[in-house]
Amino acid sequence: MFVEQQIENQKVELFFKHDISLYIKREDLLHPQISGNKFRKLKYNLLKAKDLGLNTLLTFGGAFSNHIAATAAAGKEFGFQTIGVIRGEELSKQYLDNPTLRKAEQNGMLLKFITRKAYREKTEPHFLADLKTEFSNFYLIPEGGTNDLAVKGCEEILKEQDLEFDYICSAVGTGGTVAGLINSVEDKQFVLGFPALKGSFLNAVIDGLVVRTNWNLIHDYHFGGYAKTTPELMQFLKVFHQKTGVLLDPIYTGKMMYGIIDLIEKDYFPKGSKILAIHTGGLQGWNSKFDLELVKI
Ligand SMILES: *Cc1c(COP(=O)(O)O)cnc(C)c1O
Repeated sequence: MFVEQQIENQKVELFFKHDISLYIKREDLLHPQISGNKFRKLKYNLLKAKDLGLNTLLTFGGAFSNHIAATAAAGKEFGFQTIGVIRGEELSKQYLDNPTLRKAEQNGMLLKFITRKAYREKTEPHFLADLKTEFSNFYLIPEGGTNDLAVKGCEEILKEQDLEFDYICSAVGTGGTVAGLINSVEDKQFVLGFPALKGSFLNAVIDGLVVRTNWNLIHDYHFGGYAKTTPELMQFLKVFHQKTGVLLDPIYTGKMMYGIIDLIEKDYFPKGSKILAIHTGGLQGWNSKFDLELVKI
């Protein structure tokens, strides 16, 4: 299960001032469907489900959730039934227009659409009790997939050779990925997280998942909030793709990369810094909310 192929870090062949160099860890290439960090976050959860003898995975997500897509694909590949509890009852009629949900269903996921109000109660005991009655036994994976075992999986992203980097950068959603990165760096390295959503609550969440203090969240590049973009961000994705050949996603990795390059220009990083940006994937989400034609060359 989950055989990992080794992929070289890719140098970003752009000119940066102050002798700064930028590399990308291509986690997006780890698996064709279980993309990037979602592969890391599922690994130990699926092993635990197997150990417990549970062959159904149940999880939660929105209409273009990379986590829903990855859980469905992982279930298919590793022999689990999957159930996706999806935010938005109205989607039940039109979800076939949505590539994320259509593909999840093709991969065998049973989709259960619930109202936004019910969705807000998804971690409450009465809600979970009802799910148990409806689906009997399942292994529950939280929204976005973040739990202790997900963090453990993300501690495997960085390798021995990545010790040469001064800064490790990642997009942040629920915080599990950046927490794993933080736990696996050395004192001389520094981790920067770029939240894709508004709000400072993430600092406390991540604090609760990590054992180190050499990290910081940069809250200036959410572009209006989760799954919001601007024409400027879309233009950036297009130019970055043209110049480097690397396709980013508009919800997570694009915002991080915009932030890194902007911070380089604003002299945030010391002279000669070596920066490693994690490409956490998310490319499956194109065309569910944003048209890939907008950034294709
Ligand atoms: C889910 C996701 C993230 C955020 O990961 P968290 O562990 O929830 O912080 C970042 N990038 C991409 C592409 C994702 O799909």
